[in-house]
Amino acid sequence: MRIVTLSKESRQNLLDSLLKRSPGNYGQYQDTVQEIVDRVKTKGDQTLFELTRKFDWEGVDASNVKVTEAEVQEAYDTIDPQLVETIRKSLKNIREYHEKQKQHSWFDTTPEGTMLGQKVTPLASAGVYVPGGKAVYPSSVLMNIVPAKIAGVAHVVMCTPCNKEGKVNPAVLVAAKEAGADEVYKVGGAQAIAAMAFGTESIPKVDKITGPGNIFVALAKKAVSGFVSIDSIAGPSEILVLADETANPRYVAADLLSQAEHDEMASAILVTTSKELAEKVSEEVDAFVKILSRKEIISKSLDNYGYILVAETLEDAIETVDLIASEHLEIVTKNPFEVMMKVKNAGAIFLGEYSSEPLGDYFAGPNHILPTNGTARFFSPVSVDDFIKKSSIIYYSREALQRVHKDIEYFAKAEQLTAHANSIAVRFEDEN
Ligand code: NAD
Repeated sequence: MRIVTLSKESRQNLLDSLLKRSPGNYGQYQDTVQEIVDRVKTKGDQTLFELTRKFDWEGVDASNVKVTEAEVQEAYDTIDPQLVETIRKSLKNIREYHEKQKQHSWFDTTPEGTMLGQKVTPLASAGVYVPGGKAVYPSSVLMNIVPAKIAGVAHVVMCTPCNKEGKVNPAVLVAAKEAGADEVYKVGGAQAIAAMAFGTESIPKVDKITGPGNIFVALAKKAVSGFVSIDSIAGPSEILVLADETANPRYVAADLLSQAEHDEMASAILVTTSKELAEKVSEEVDAFVKILSRKEIISKSLDNYGYILVAETLEDAIETVDLIASEHLEIVTKNPFEVMMKVKNAGAIFLGEYSSEPLGDYFAGPNHILPTNGTARFFSPVSVDDFIKKSSIIYYSREALQRVHKDIEYFAKAEQLTAHANSIAVRFEDEN
């Protein structure tokens, strides 16, 4: 891996290079995706099936796009029972964590005769996208469906592409059943997103779409945003390790590679205050790459976006961490808890030598659908919050309104909105 001394200039070069990975730069696919979205919106199933035949499965038609109970049963019969057990253990942790995120309605009354509040209501329906083109992600099934169900969403629909034979990976189907998906459809890509956003003859329209996917999925989510709510648009995976001389170079190298294997656009960055650690990590990375199964993808992503930055001070290192605002941040320093309190921008923060990133991907409980491409500056992980909405509640008695009605009328008149003023004044006509 390339080792670079951290300076204002080298940091800016790195930030400029990382920006190239933004979905905003995939302009060449924008028109293709917009055309797919528009066609599904106007022609429904006809376009949905046409594109599914083209990209995924030739046998698609209206009678078999929905996964049946028999197919789910077949998945349970096929899957290794140990994987079902593992899915259940992981599900338990994910549920426990997301239960804590639940928000409750509140109402405040005053002796003056007012009640103000905030009523929390779950969205009526949600659509979850689970990618399935190049790999399978039963873990993403759990991370999408659990927060929706805990929020109280009554109807959760899932779309995922199937293989050429029309089969969805059994682990994905089992995970969907265990997490509580109400319906699963065997469609993928931009056409699946458009179908959930606008509804087709076979797929219901939903209020919110969440979940990661490739560039076609990401751009389709962008295109339907506004017609439905979406979570943040996921770019390629990222890991940033912040380490000092106390870190184990072999562990750091292994963790960097855990994200580099996702795809050629993934980024793996070490920011360290130790030149010695930088050199050792680089050596360990070279040794690991030779033996890992996805060595070609890893080598390309390290060539593209793999960096080791050597900082003079921990303060410089933390400033850089905040500017990069990584999806995943590991802090492996003398006192990671203290350092964590100083960091402002990261999707998920892993503390210490034994909290390696895949712990969060599969098992610990927090959501693994995280902001990428520097958007951790203002976005949060997918959570129960994504599946609720809030209504403001306002109640004033006659006496309470009487006390303030002149102020409101005055304010409304200052905006020259006399009908507003009148709607208050009309209630106190008898005072004049
Ligand atoms: P996918 O399901 O996102 O995409 C497959 C679909 O792409 C197909 O169904 C097809 O409809 C469409 N497609 C393929 N080629 C097309 C073309 N030329 N024109 C129009 N549409 C086309 O699966 P994938 O491709 O394997 O991508 C999954 C992505 O999701 C990866 O980038 C992976 O890193 C990412 N991911 C992210 C997370 C996360 O939490 N951030 C988790 C899992 C996966």
